[in-house]
Amino acid sequence: MADAAPSQESCFVPDPAYTFLFADPLPDLCCVICKEAKLTVAEHGHTFPGDNGDSNAYLVACGHIFCRKCCNAWFATKTTCPVCRFDLRHKRCRHLIKSLKLSPWNILFGPQPLPAGGKVPDQCSYCRDVEERTAVVTLCKPVAKCYYGLKLEAERWGSEEDTRAMELAKRNLDRVTEAVLGLITCYSSTDEW
Ligand SMILES: [Zn+2]
Ligand SMILES: [Zn+2]
Ligand SMILES: [Zn+2]
Repeated sequence: MADAAPSQESCFVPDPAYTFLFADPLPDLCCVICKEAKLTVAEHGHTFPGDNGDSNAYLVACGHIFCRKCCNAWFATKTTCPVCRFDLRHKRCRHLIKSLKLSPWNILFGPQPLPAGGKVPDQCSYCRDVEERTAVVTLCKPVAKCYYGLKLEAERWGSEEDTRAMELAKRNLDRVTEAVLGLITCYSSTDEW
């Protein structure tokens, strides 16, 4: 494929695991934007923080892949895929759906392209995080306020009844906090864009 101009479809990778991990021989793909950079996936690319690897294949949610340089340059100013024109923004917050630097790890465990059944949440992870934090504060604040009020009373009067009320309020606060944090943990998953 080195001499021929790559077709538009050569950068469409709806199933990255098959294309990069199981295909034999590996497809000789090159970037359709610059038409020269080879699209490679490093064996140990970007698996752990601090491991930069040298993968040069960046997958976008619609299933198209581009080289790192072109991906950065294109999406610095645009929000649609250069090949299929898919709108690459989260529906609710309108932030850009981030491209995924491909590695054997995130090909298997990361988000899949939409044609392969991948899901794009309404909001980016940053906006989801902000919303979740706000929800935690909103839900926990009244319970926390009640606890601190009773704590002051107990410290001031020191009666057994006040202490018991304070301890009950503390247990409530712990329970609410734990429940809210549990909700958040079960909602965040790595297989979403
Ligand atoms: Zn390129
Ligand atoms: Zn596309
Ligand atoms: Zn966002």
